[in-house]
Amino acid sequence: MSNPQDTIFAKIIRREIPAEIVYEDELAIAFKDVNPQAPVHLLVIPKQPIAMLSDAESEDHRLMGHLLLTVKRVAEQAGLTNGYRVVINTGEDGGQTVYHLHLHILGGRSMQWPPG
Ligand code: 5GP
Repeated sequence: MSNPQDTIFAKIIRREIPAEIVYEDELAIAFKDVNPQAPVHLLVIPKQPIAMLSDAESEDHRLMGHLLLTVKRVAEQAGLTNGYRVVINTGEDGGQTVYHLHLHILGGRSMQWPPG
């Protein structure tokens, strides 16, 4: 498991690599996914380096709630009035590739179920 301090997302938070940032506050940042899977594909991440959802602790409850409310705010800002999908890939079987917790917002088209 890679150290979340060293991920590409930590570098985006530190402005060491560019990203199209659409929202930022003291706890979270949101930016466009570099390889979009839908007309709108945004990522919401905590500034705190939590590697994955299963590493979150009960004392992180305020941050975790904040991330969900940030998803709502960013989706509204992106104009996703007809709905959207929120995805948290977790660990190897979850298909996670970047080990800094992130919430995908996918929208702008109708989603299918079940996902692959
Ligand atoms: P995961 O597979 O871990 O759930 O999602 C990681 C996401 O990060 C992928 O959708 C991938 O396209 C995106 N991603 C990977 N590297 C970068 C990057 O350097 N910049 C941005 N904006 N997105 C990235």
